[in-house]
Amino acid sequence: MKPANPATLSVVIPVFNESEVLPLLFERLKRCFEPASVKQLGLSTVQFIFVDDGSRDDSAAKVKTFIDNGANATLIRLSRNFGHQNAVTAGLKYSDSDITAIIDADLQDPPEVILGMVRKWREGFDVVYAQRRKRKENWFKVGCYWAFYRLLSLLSEIEIAMDSGDFCLMDRKVVQTICSLPEKLRFPRGLRSWVGFRQVGFPYERDSRHAGESKYSFKALFKLATDGIASSSIRPLQIIQVGTFLFAGLLITLVSFCGLAYFMPDRFLIPPWFLIGFTLTASVGFATLFSLYIIAGYIGRMYLEIKQRPSFIVMEEIGVNTVNRRQEHRQAA
Ligand code: UDP
Ligand code: MG
Repeated sequence: MKPANPATLSVVIPVFNESEVLPLLFERLKRCFEPASVKQLGLSTVQFIFVDDGSRDDSAAKVKTFIDNGANATLIRLSRNFGHQNAVTAGLKYSDSDITAIIDADLQDPPEVILGMVRKWREGFDVVYAQRRKRKENWFKVGCYWAFYRLLSLLSEIEIAMDSGDFCLMDRKVVQTICSLPEKLRFPRGLRSWVGFRQVGFPYERDSRHAGESKYSFKALFKLATDGIASSSIRPLQIIQVGTFLFAGLLITLVSFCGLAYFMPDRFLIPPWFLIGFTLTASVGFATLFSLYIIAGYIGRMYLEIKQRPSFIVMEEIGVNTVNRRQEHRQAA
C-alpha cells in the first residue's frame, strides 16, 4: 500500500570535489523541484541530502551557503574520502522519507528524470532504477562499462539490471532493508537488486559531466567492477572449483597447438613435443595464477568484512532535522 498523498522525498547526492558544478546543480534542483511541480506530484517536502566525501575544495562551503539561503537540505561531511559507494550508503542512512532518490552531483543524471520516477513509484513500483539508453562519454569508458555490466550479469546469481548505476528512486521499505544489511563493503546497486521488491527500469539519456573531471580513474573503475562482482556473486569461485576455466582453456590451447605443430614445416627448429609441453605448462601456470588472483580477491574482502569497521565516519552534520534523527535512533535501537 502506497502512503496517501502527500509523500516526502529525499534526494541523496554524493559530492567529492564538485565545487565547479555545484552552483549549476543548485539551480537545476531548484528549478526542477519548484513548489508547483512538487505539489503536482503529490509531494509535501523535498529534502536534499548532500554527502561530502572528504572534498578538498570548497564543495562543503558551497553546500552550507545553499542551506543558509533557505534550501531544505542537509550536509553530512565524512571524515575523509571513503569512496562513492560509501558516500551513497551514508546518504541512505540519513533518509527517512517515503521515497529516496540517489543522484550524482555532476549533472550526468538529469534531476528532471526523478519527476518521472516518482510517477512510476505512484504506479506501485518500489524501486525505479534509471537505465542508460546512451552515454555521452569517451568510447573507452563506454566500452568498459558495457563489458562490466555484461560480465556482472553473467557472473551474478541474481538478476542485475543492465546499464543501471546508482541513479534510482526507492520506497522507504527498500531503503530501510538495504540499510539493515550488515555488510560493511557495500555496493548499493548490487544490494538494490538483491533485496527484490517490485522493480522497474526507467530509460534515460546520460549527459556528459557539466564541469570538473570524473573521479574515477581506470584503477578506481577496476576496483568498482571487482567489488561489484565479488560482493554480488561467488560464481568465480565456483568456476575455479569445477575447473571449467582450467579445462576449457587448456583444451582449446592444446588442440590449437597440436594442430600448429602438425602443420609445422620440417625446417622449423622447435620440435612439436616441446611446443606441446611448453603450451601445457604455460596454460596450467596461467590458470593457477588467475585462480589465485580470484581467491585472493575474496580472502581480502573477507578480511575487511571480519574487521567490522564502519563503511564511513561522519565528521559533521549540518541541517540534520528530526526526520533524519528518527532514522538514526531506529537504527541504534
Ligand atoms: N564521488 C564521491 N566519492 C568519490 C568519487 C566520486 O562521492 O570518491 C561522487 C562524485 O562527486 C559524483 C559521483 O560520486 O557525484 C559520481 O562520480 P563521477 O562523476 O566522478 O563518476 P563517473 O560518472 O565518471 O563514473
Ligand atoms: Mg559522473
